[in-house]
Amino acid sequence: MSNLRQRFFIADCPIRGEVVQLKDALHTILNQRTYPQAIQVLLGEMLSATALLASTLKIKGRISLQIQAEGSFKWAMAECNHLGEVRGLADFESDPRFEQATDSSTVLATLKNPVLFINIEPEFGERYQGIISLDQPTLAGCLMDYYARSAQIPTHLVLASDPQSSGGLLIQLLPRTEEEKTTIDEDLWPRLIMLTDTIKADELKQLDAQEILYRLYNEEEVRLPDIEQLSFACTCSKQKCENALIQIGEQAVQETLDHQSPIEMDCQFCGAQYKFNAEEALSLFGKHLS
Ligand SMILES: [Zn+2]
Repeated sequence: MSNLRQRFFIADCPIRGEVVQLKDALHTILNQRTYPQAIQVLLGEMLSATALLASTLKIKGRISLQIQAEGSFKWAMAECNHLGEVRGLADFESDPRFEQATDSSTVLATLKNPVLFINIEPEFGERYQGIISLDQPTLAGCLMDYYARSAQIPTHLVLASDPQSSGGLLIQLLPRTEEEKTTIDEDLWPRLIMLTDTIKADELKQLDAQEILYRLYNEEEVRLPDIEQLSFACTCSKQKCENALIQIGEQAVQETLDHQSPIEMDCQFCGAQYKFNAEEALSLFGKHLS
């Protein structure tokens, strides 16, 4: 059961790319709740996308995608950090449209006033939030549209997911030097996009990354650095729970303790439970039980 990311370059060309695949990390995430298949597929695509995009960042920190909507679909989020650690979660009310659908496009089409946020949170430095319009039929289409509009480097990606595995592939055309502009053939980028789009969903999810790259780009000289492992990991901690209690304030904490002691806080991403008895909770406000 593998969770991996294979970076690649094409020799003597300003092209870089990644292939990602998630299997047991995806199962761990999807098993946190009971999701209809279509939402599992959407979460799988969002996780693959964040794992691809995280690798394009040159920072320590994390990148997340978050869809928010009104109606029975509340939100879904997926994130990946610079260590290749992923997590994700979605919140929704039961809706026959989710039960009947098997793909993510059908879910996207049902969303009421949806917004897709892309968040980049460096460990140090300023956070960035962008808003991606969800007016393309697929998540990959929305992301490519965003890259095209935000005038960053040309980026093309494909995503595929089912409840067992998810996969993604991204290529980017890097800024070219003056010398490269004269030596690179103009057809290279459109040709690579065309080749990339020939990958089938099952191939992307199941074939070895090297086999995928060989099938697509065997006429190019593809260079492969070491493969990276991805994993499921959660960023929750007792410290973060303490901060949350401090945020809601002493009075609210005291009221909670009046009917529930210890205070129990469950992480929905990983199932971890954090407990605070009255003494611990009140000590956060400098109070001690006498
Ligand atoms: Zn957690």
